[in-house]
Amino acid sequence: MQPGDIRISAAELTTFCAAALARAGAKEGDARAVADHLVMANLCGHDSHGAGLLPTYLRHVAEGLVDVHAVPEVIHDKGAILKVAGHDAWGRIAGEFAMTAAFPKAEALGACILTLSNAHHLGRIGAFGEMAAQEGFAAIFFVNVTDLDPVVAPYQGTDGRFGTNPVCIALPPTGTKPAFLLDMATSRIAMGKARIAASKGLRVPFGAIIDENGLPTDDPSGFKGFDQKGALTPFGDHKGYGLVFAAELLAGVFSGGGTIQPGHERRGGIRNQMMAVILSPDAFGDPAAMDREMEAMWEYALASPPADWDSPIVAPGDPERSLRKRRAAEGVPMDPETLKQLNAAAESVGVTERLG
Ligand code: NAD
Repeated sequence: MQPGDIRISAAELTTFCAAALARAGAKEGDARAVADHLVMANLCGHDSHGAGLLPTYLRHVAEGLVDVHAVPEVIHDKGAILKVAGHDAWGRIAGEFAMTAAFPKAEALGACILTLSNAHHLGRIGAFGEMAAQEGFAAIFFVNVTDLDPVVAPYQGTDGRFGTNPVCIALPPTGTKPAFLLDMATSRIAMGKARIAASKGLRVPFGAIIDENGLPTDDPSGFKGFDQKGALTPFGDHKGYGLVFAAELLAGVFSGGGTIQPGHERRGGIRNQMMAVILSPDAFGDPAAMDREMEAMWEYALASPPADWDSPIVAPGDPERSLRKRRAAEGVPMDPETLKQLNAAAESVGVTERLG
């Protein structure tokens, strides 16, 4: 929460976003589902993937970069392999369609290898990890981003050649532990976080971005607006770079949706391709014994004495869970600039209500 920010309830924010998406042409149910997906990202603390994307999504509708009438389709179904074409449908809708189609196969075979091509922005990938975990599956996701200029430099490179290619690993809850949910961009910071820092005049960790000359910096001002100068860097030096690259290939090549290499048209939208490996733990051993082992390891890891007693050790997924509770009670903090953009975008499609 920064000075000048105000809190908006999740319900108000969702209704506002859904109304604007519906006025722009989204089907009623889709508008609500996409709005829920955005606001859940806010609740989890990932404002970069939250309601602040509304103006971008409305622009994408106006420019035909998301197809509000598209219906995702299973295009290949053989053995453990399931391929879904998103046909530029809303990412939330295409992602849920693909996951729902994969679950019976993972149940029957013990595993399903799912690909999804050409979905509009999938947003917070953890939402799909949560879907799997809630159904009792483990899932590993690799995602690439196309239809826009690259924003992440290769390790030791000086300009963008990749997207922020998220990777997500979800494990179902046990009797005493919640779902394990690692959900991350493979860039050191997510693109939206650099944009938000730029619009708020904040610094980012030194070296998380490089400037237009390829030099490391902590000044995100080149990321204001959508014509960014400079690039993000991968997390974890050469190791994170390897993961950025792997996600690009696994998602882009195996789905058939393509990678970000310049042989493909870049229309200025956001398309995601995804590979998800969905596993039924029951196919791997005694579920009760697996749960016991997971719980023992979880407790062992979190019992490490903290370096700073004010920052307790938590598991991946814990920070989002606790923030979600807090923001659900207190509301989502919104800065004046984002509010202005949301109100202007909604007004442009004829919504008369105002936020804030
Ligand atoms: P982040 O850096 O805030 O968190 C990454 C992971 O680290 C999370 O699983 C979180 O639970 C865990 N974590 C954070 N602090 C922790 C701690 N102290 N101890 C243990 N675990 C901790 O996330 P991010 O990399 O900024 O990604 C933000 C979101 O952006 C994600 O939901 C991701 O899916 C999404 N994303 C989407 C796209 C897309 O194209 N659709 C692209 C990039 C990112």
